[in-house]
Amino acid sequence: MAKGTILGHPTGLFILFFTELWERFSYYGMRAILVLYLTAETTDKINPGLGWTSKEALALYGWYGMFVYFTGIFGGAIADNWLGQKKSVLLGGIFIILGQFSLAVESMTAFYSGLFLLVIGVGLLKPNISTMVGSLYKSGDARRDSGFTIFYIGINIGAVLAPLIVGYYGEMVDWHLGFSLAGFGMILGQIVYVFGGKYLKGIGDLFKKSAEHAHLASQPLSKIEKDRMLVMFISFLIVMVFWAAYEQAGGLMNLYARDKIDRVVLGYEIPTSFFQSLHALYVVILGAPMAYFWVKWRKSGRESSSLFKMGIGSIIMSFGFVALMGAAYDVSESVLNQAPVYWLFLSYFLHVVAELSISPVALSFITKLAPMKYASLMMGTYFAVTGLGNKLAGILGEAAQDAGEMAIFTGISVFSILLGFLILIFVKKLKALTHGAEEVEHPATFVEPE
Ligand code: GLN
Repeated sequence: MAKGTILGHPTGLFILFFTELWERFSYYGMRAILVLYLTAETTDKINPGLGWTSKEALALYGWYGMFVYFTGIFGGAIADNWLGQKKSVLLGGIFIILGQFSLAVESMTAFYSGLFLLVIGVGLLKPNISTMVGSLYKSGDARRDSGFTIFYIGINIGAVLAPLIVGYYGEMVDWHLGFSLAGFGMILGQIVYVFGGKYLKGIGDLFKKSAEHAHLASQPLSKIEKDRMLVMFISFLIVMVFWAAYEQAGGLMNLYARDKIDRVVLGYEIPTSFFQSLHALYVVILGAPMAYFWVKWRKSGRESSSLFKMGIGSIIMSFGFVALMGAAYDVSESVLNQAPVYWLFLSYFLHVVAELSISPVALSFITKLAPMKYASLMMGTYFAVTGLGNKLAGILGEAAQDAGEMAIFTGISVFSILLGFLILIFVKKLKALTHGAEEVEHPATFVEPE
């Protein structure tokens, strides 16, 4: 194994892995208790909340979910123009720590300030840390995609742990203790980031700073760069539809699991909230085998472009909703108005196979295609699109209250499969717009830390 690598990847990857693991622990921990805290009775003797109605709480949750990603655009622009990605991540982490501890203070001003700080913090950190992962690999390095999968597994380890730890202490002991624990998570992330800095030399610095780059940055985009921007925006369409479907999990599917799924297995009733960790758990389990599968697939000489994977992902997502249609059918046929739990396990499994074909793939794709001077902005725009997908998910979930679940599940399934096939049909043309950005040139090269 070459010096400076772990599992054949640059050591810096694992610094970013652990930083993001703890950032996501903080993010998903807070998210796990937010709605519960808002709706808990103010008169509760042990752990009083804010006493909001479910509708008010879900509305705030929806807006928060959108803004927290939407500000990625600003986070990206700030990194490209003023700070570089490395400093933006550090600053974002500080905002997140302040935000979580602000939520831990019992006052409405502190509460809203906390949300505001988190929105800014995540906007600064999330897109920029993802761009830094891409910068660890030279263009044409075959390991870039699997590097992003490893990074994505880290994200989801944080997401599995968070509801268990922050959720448990927040809900059972004290909401404010929960928010503090989320803050401590981010402190751990910052410690890893600062002390691991030596493995990130030359990664995420301000691109426009050097004289040669300043000249390059002021150039108008070339035809190739414009084509690449276009194909990225087309891929964003898949991304938005995907997240609108996937994020049903936290809202509509959460209620569906509670009310319409028979969750008793071997005499034990699986708590509804367990299904909130299931996605992340599946990612941790399936991430490595899926990455291995795609490497083998590529080596066998078959079509393996990012767009192809994303098209396949969209089709698999559609199957995930066919499984939910199965559940909705069983509900309509059963006397108890309930469906067996295997539909949910199967459906979430398919959602995650789709996620692994789309989400880390899209991150990697952007780092291959974005012009240097817009590297962070494009990543920020990607996260903004996922934020819009989140909001759309909420709107679809609300629509299901009138239209019924079967109609919404069918609609999502049909839309996803059509989009997926459309991408596969045009994959050659779309690939031409990338102008060879995905061609693998150097099977094992990476940027050595200076
Ligand atoms: N679940 C992933 C994460 O938290 C992706 C989120 C997204 O792209 N909106 O990083």
